[in-house]
Order: sequence, then structure tokens, then C-alpha cells
Amino acid sequence: MEDTILVVNCGSSSLKLSLFDHHLSKLASAAAERLNTKDAGARIGGNDEGIALKPDASHEQALEAIVSALQNLELMASRPAAVGHRVVHGGETFHEAVVIDDDVIKAIDDCAELAPLHNPVNLCGIRATRALFPGVQQVAVFDTAFHQTLPERAYLYAVPRSWHRDWGVRRYGFHGTSHAFMAIEAARLLGRTPATTSVISAHLGNGCSITAISEGVSVDTSMGLTPLEGLVMGTRSGDVDPGLFDFLGSKGVDAEEVHQVLNHQSGLLGLSAQTNDMRSLCELADHGHEPSKTAIEVFCFRLARYIGAMMASLARLDALVFTGGIGENSARIRQQTIGHLGLMGFAIGTDLNKNHGSFSDGRIESPDSRFPILVIPTDEELVIAQEASRLAGRPEPADQHS
Ligand code: ADP
Repeated sequence: MEDTILVVNCGSSSLKLSLFDHHLSKLASAAAERLNTKDAGARIGGNDEGIALKPDASHEQALEAIVSALQNLELMASRPAAVGHRVVHGGETFHEAVVIDDDVIKAIDDCAELAPLHNPVNLCGIRATRALFPGVQQVAVFDTAFHQTLPERAYLYAVPRSWHRDWGVRRYGFHGTSHAFMAIEAARLLGRTPATTSVISAHLGNGCSITAISEGVSVDTSMGLTPLEGLVMGTRSGDVDPGLFDFLGSKGVDAEEVHQVLNHQSGLLGLSAQTNDMRSLCELADHGHEPSKTAIEVFCFRLARYIGAMMASLARLDALVFTGGIGENSARIRQQTIGHLGLMGFAIGTDLNKNHGSFSDGRIESPDSRFPILVIPTDEELVIAQEASRLAGRPEPADQHS
């Protein structure tokens, strides 16, 4: 109960907390949802009873209520040893996780222009935790940091250089914590070191992105200036023709509305006109719902195209990795995607793919595949806890994933 590491992940209307012991084993998790609305609610994982929140509860109020519930359940001592925060955008300023001080808070605030929906709310979590636990070391772990190694050819858009120089217009990439974890875990499963391992990592959750990792370093990724670019996602379109804005403008749809629709009503939801949830979409497709089948086809085909594109960034490939809720759980999506990649020599083992959970090495390729294919559960909270623990100067636990 002592020496815990608290991990805080603030979304626009949600708050997720995870608590780790000093071996970095997870002790508890908790989540608050629909914050700042009359339906605000929170609960601790594995505990059916919800935590009472006032209507319109803020992030700060939810944080206080959850921490006090964790303390009442004797899961948490009065103060954690360190707190790790997920921060979405670190711009070109942050190349790695950092200990939070007033300068860091200002720099995260400066990056808010690039992530107006995320950075302000991440800061809100940081400020609330600082107020609740004064003097406790706080660490920021950035979604963008792992991609700060992208070469110029991968991060520059072919637009006037002044846009980058004056306004920071370039590709940043996101989901870096998950992709960094894949680089380490894939190397471990293959019996190699991260510095000698090159993988393509496909993180497929509600947001989806794919990254080419050369010898442990991110060299190309599908998300760009914002997390809208690239693959088809739950409600996000991924790549569209930028000419769409002008075209829809001529139809009377203004840029703000296009932005809203591309972020919140597109992707799997837009194509199926039913749901953004892949599991529900697969069930609908099984019952013959044609738009759901089409949504799945577009999703898998776009993903396969991107896997092909990522090959151009690598001199060698040690494995293709699937992760995230869809990547970890949907044999169908993995099979359908790999089905497009026979020419490149990828081949899936049908039984291994369906039963990969029973095999600890995560391998799902068939013996004649040119490359290994792996399924690896992601654990972004653990990575954030590791970074918070490391930067707080705590000794590395012997049994910690590394
Ligand atoms: P987030 O990005 O919010 O963390 P997750 O990584 O949990 O999301 O992924 C959520 C997605 O994973 C949802 O679309 C969900 O339907 C999908 N998913 C989870 N299990 C399955 C499954 N067995 N088959 C297909 N999709 C699944």
C-alpha cells in the first residue's frame, strides 16, 4: 500500500486512474465518465458499487472522490510516491518523459494550440493532482515523444516550409507510449534486444495508428499534425482528400462542421451508420448487414495499404505487431488485413490466429510467412508508471517489464 505510483489519464469528459505498487503490479483502477454533465459517475474496477459524484462533477472533484474511495478501501496510502500523467501533445519541445515543474506546465500549455481538445484537460489533471498531493513528484509522459525521432522526410508535409517554421505544421504522431511498449515487448518475445529489432506496430483501438520502428526508434507513423490522419478509426475518417474542405464549403458546409464530422461521425460509425464499436460491427456483419461488412472491408484494406507503406521506411522487418482492443481481440480483422498482403509474403496461421491467447509467444503467422506476426496486449498505464517511477529516482523492480 505504501510507495504506490498513481497514473492519471484525463480525457475531455473522462478520468482514468491506475494505481501500481512498488513492483509496478497494478493494485487498482478507477474511471469517471460524463464529467461536467448531470450524469457524471465514477467507479473502481472490480467493485460494482459506484462512487457518488455530484451532478456536473469536474475532473478535480472526480479525482478527489476516487482517491478518497481508494484510501477508504485501504488500497492507497495517504500519498503516492509519484504520479505519472498521460499528456497528448508535446510538440517539438518534449522528446521524452519529464518531471513536471512550472516551466513544463507552461510548455504543455503552449502546445495546447496543437491539441486543443486534449492538452488543456491533461493540464487540469496535473493541477488537480498537484493540489491534492503537494510536494509529490509528478511526471508527464507524452503521446508524441516516441515519434520525435522521425526523419524529416517522414515528418514534413509538402507545403510551404514557412508553415512548419512559423506554426509548427508537421507530422507529430500519437499513441507513442503504446508503440514504444510494442518495440520492447516484440523484441522480448523474439529473443532480441529493442536496439536490434525492427517492427511495424499497428495500434487498433477506438483511435488507430501504425508505426514503423527501426532498431527501437520510430521512423514513420500514420497520424500527423493531429490524431485524425491515417487509418480508419471508430469515429475518425483517417486520410481524406484535403480538397474536401473546399468542395463541402461550396455545398454550404463550413470548415468547423467538416472538422466535427470527420472527427466524431466518420470512420466505422460513418460507414456503417450504426456503430463505432468493432465488436458490434462484426456481429452486425455476421447478421448480413451490408454497410457493416463494407465498413470492415474499408478498415482492413486501409490498414493493409499502410502496412505496405511502412515497409518503405525499414531496411529489415522482424515482425508485424497487432495491439489495441481490435488488434488484440479480433482474429477476423487480423485475417482480413493479412489477406491483402500475400504479395509481400505475409501469411497468417488460421488456427494460431484464432487461439493466440493460448500461446505465450504471441505468434500467429503460418510457417510459410516471410515475417513473424505477433499479437501483444498493450499497457500504456504500465509504461507511464515505469517512467514516473524511474524519474522519481526509484530503483527498477527486478520483475518489472522492461
Ligand atoms: P481505446 O482506444 O478507447 O483504449 P480499446 O483499445 O479498448 O479502445 O479498443 C476498443 C475497440 O476494440 C472497440 O471497437 C471494440 O469493439 C474493439 N474490440 C474489443 N474486443 C473485440 C473483439 N473481440 N472483436 C472485435 N473488436 C473488439
